Amino acid sequence: MTEATGIVGEFLSLKEETDADILAMQCGDFYEFFAEDAELVADELDLKVSQKGSHGSSYPMAGVPLDDLTPYLSALVERGYRVAVADQYETDDGHAREITRIVTPGTHLETSDDDAQYLAAVVREGGGDGGSGGSDDATYGIAVADVTTGQFLVTEQSGADATSAALTELYKFDPAEVLPGPEIRSDDDFLDEVRERTDASLSLHTTEAFAPGRARHRVREQFGGETLESVGIADAEAAVRAAGAVISYVDETGAGVLASMTRLQSFDESAYVDLDATTQRNLELTETMQGERSGSLFDTVDHTVTSAGGRLLREWLQRPRRSREELTRRQSAVAALAKAAMARDQLRETLGDAYDLERLASKAASGSADARDLRAVQETLALLPAVAELVAEAERLADSPLAEVLERPDRDAAAELAADLDEALVEDPPGTVTQGGLIRTGFDPELDEIVDDHEAALDWIETLPEREKRRTGITHLSVDRNKTDGYYIQVGKSETDQVPAEYEQIKTLKNSERYVIDELVEREREILRLEERRHEMERAIFERLRDRVAARAQLLQETGRALAECDALASLAAHAVRNDWTRPELSDGRELSVDQGRHPVVEQTTQFVPNDLSMDDERQFLIVTGPNMSGKSTYMRQAALITLLAQVGSFVPARSARVGLVDGIYTRVGALDELAQGRSTFMVEMQELSNILHSATEESLVILDEVGRGTATYDGISIAWAATEYLANRIQAKTLFATHYHELTALGEELPTVENVHVAADERDGDVTFLRTVEDGPTNRSYGVHVADLAGVPEPVVDRSRDVLDRLREEKAIEVRGSDVADGGGTEQVVFDLGSGELVSEESNSSQQVATDGSQMEVPATDSDGQSLDPETEAILDELGDIDVNETPPVELMAKVQNWQEQLEDSDADVS
Ligand code: ADP
Repeated sequence: MTEATGIVGEFLSLKEETDADILAMQCGDFYEFFAEDAELVADELDLKVSQKGSHGSSYPMAGVPLDDLTPYLSALVERGYRVAVADQYETDDGHAREITRIVTPGTHLETSDDDAQYLAAVVREGGGDGGSGGSDDATYGIAVADVTTGQFLVTEQSGADATSAALTELYKFDPAEVLPGPEIRSDDDFLDEVRERTDASLSLHTTEAFAPGRARHRVREQFGGETLESVGIADAEAAVRAAGAVISYVDETGAGVLASMTRLQSFDESAYVDLDATTQRNLELTETMQGERSGSLFDTVDHTVTSAGGRLLREWLQRPRRSREELTRRQSAVAALAKAAMARDQLRETLGDAYDLERLASKAASGSADARDLRAVQETLALLPAVAELVAEAERLADSPLAEVLERPDRDAAAELAADLDEALVEDPPGTVTQGGLIRTGFDPELDEIVDDHEAALDWIETLPEREKRRTGITHLSVDRNKTDGYYIQVGKSETDQVPAEYEQIKTLKNSERYVIDELVEREREILRLEERRHEMERAIFERLRDRVAARAQLLQETGRALAECDALASLAAHAVRNDWTRPELSDGRELSVDQGRHPVVEQTTQFVPNDLSMDDERQFLIVTGPNMSGKSTYMRQAALITLLAQVGSFVPARSARVGLVDGIYTRVGALDELAQGRSTFMVEMQELSNILHSATEESLVILDEVGRGTATYDGISIAWAATEYLANRIQAKTLFATHYHELTALGEELPTVENVHVAADERDGDVTFLRTVEDGPTNRSYGVHVADLAGVPEPVVDRSRDVLDRLREEKAIEVRGSDVADGGGTEQVVFDLGSGELVSEESNSSQQVATDGSQMEVPATDSDGQSLDPETEAILDELGDIDVNETPPVELMAKVQNWQEQLEDSDADVS
């Protein structure tokens, strides 16, 4: 009872010490959770809850066996919890417990996911009052680290759009955990955005960790004194503060992986194509709009055979490059691999045996790598010469940039480390490092001696029954071992009278007796001693090996990276060959010419109709029209994806293509997903448009799929019109703009660089067939009515729509029909006036204006009973209708007209 009090009490006070969500405390062979934590964990992980009594009250308790903690930890961390682990250690008077590490979403090493797992810190400096929202003259410092691979990156964002640029950066990494600097408060708009756009856990880290001096010191300590200067961020205080905070957080959570963080990189944004968050989503780079992985571009082109290769390819797609040199290098490698089919297959087969070296480096650094992990390191390092040889021997590959990729890691050092590991470790080591069986004979003479003695002692025991049977003549005799009795000799009941005098009886069982003899006891003691010594020595040797591997983290990372690059390039080549892709010509001009292009994802599942695209200085801006569902979005996305793939260094789905390198790709596509998120559609649409108009340059590619649909027609047309002029004249970005506003096609005729194209459709006998080919000029008809017809909309409505459509097009009067259509009476002519945007009564032509908003179109004076006309006017109209002009003398006609005028003047006077 008192002990129970102690344990729960100890748990609760350790829990006080930490800001983690959950505490797992070691109690002997278990990790236990108590109180609220027990209930939470039981709930999340389906564990059984029991009750632990303490001080007369009872506490919920749940536990997991010591060796099983990792999967439970992973599950909790993947759900976003931060879990503190308290371990038990021996002291002079019993044992004590203390928190040894805190596992968090961003510092979790044993992730089951192949994707990168980023921990980010964000610091904001300046920017007005520093209150929530962060005005846009602020500077943001961002540091991002992947503890599972040792990757460490920093950047700074400042200027007019600092906030959105910082968010864009963060979103690209899709961090698992974000540490906001002390100046970014929890109600800050910035954090709201982070919460909305990512699944990151937001964790508070100490204010001191972000202090400039301290952070700078930590960065120097970690990466070396001159690093800040050589990376060029010595003066970037915000970035340095963020980096320092990440390092101290990783350190304090006790993941122990700092040793694998060997290289600080500053990511120079100007090296990459700007792809904002919306565009990444719209182009479905790594997941579809519905959030599925399958059906994304990555899913389609990924044929990598290693997890590191997959991770790299994904990174390439998310961060296309702008440097023609780098792209040409990748292209040449892909081209060589595409041609060398045999070598490519062999290469991929060989690479298939590679383990994830970057991840293994982190495991070694954190001390969590076991002997199997070190074997994996050895086997993978040993692949490097095999891969290099394959490349050197394949004629086409030998001179390709692939050979250079394999030159990067220090091959001698890799070979040396691999040989050392191979010499030390047994072929197929066990998964635990405490039970021996790790180290090869011949590696360490002292160990060998102990092993020999140990094995001799074991052998003595193994052969003891035979010897004793022979000596005593007893037939039912065996030697065994258990926890309580140690080694013993067991003799069947029927023969116990034959046991020699020196047999000392220790236990009686139903059918047998157990004995020991002095020699056996002695041997047992020897075995235990040797066993312990052997395990200790093996473990010590193993730990030295692991430290050596940890110290070579950079070598592992470089080798891993080189192998991953081979894998990613071979994957691009394999996809290109299978799908008949072509190497695009890269040019600096603003052209984008595609002959027989296809959409890389749609072509996988559809009989795709290839189409052409031609853009250059004279044809900078294409207005794409065509019926709904004809293929406008597909055509435009295809243009964006071909550009993107070209800037990844990949081949592209086309017969041939010339791609002018772009500095950014910006898209604004239908608002379906935004609607699902419950954001105001039109506002979001305008924010996206605003972002594009601010960010795009003459070197950018802009894709607009409908602009202005979220508002009333005339509003929409006006905004689309003005945006077109601005993009075409001012920004001069390469732009594809799909619109259902036929009015905009007029711009194609007026502005020199704006051209119309349309997706062709064929219409026969009232049926519409989509041809999917794109042709010059605007689409000439709207097929909406046909689709309505095909969908079974009642014939009178379809006929009437055609009629209205024709009249609208010709700006002709449309009579607005009353409820009593059949007798034809009481209708009035109104016309759709494009100039004023209003329906105007045709008779008075200006006096009677009618709202045009479809939802509330209301036309006075139209009822068949003529109620809205005053009776006097109606009488005049009747009279007018009755006159036969040919039969009436002119004087009489004049008199009548004069009379009517007087009557009308009177009635007007009445009204006013
Ligand atoms: P829109 O934007 O004009 O409404 P979409 O681009 O959404 O039309 O295309 C409509 C459908 O036609 C999609 O299912 C798409 O996969 C298919 N499609 C589009 N272009 C082609 C093509 N060139 N060949 C075959 N199918 C296509």
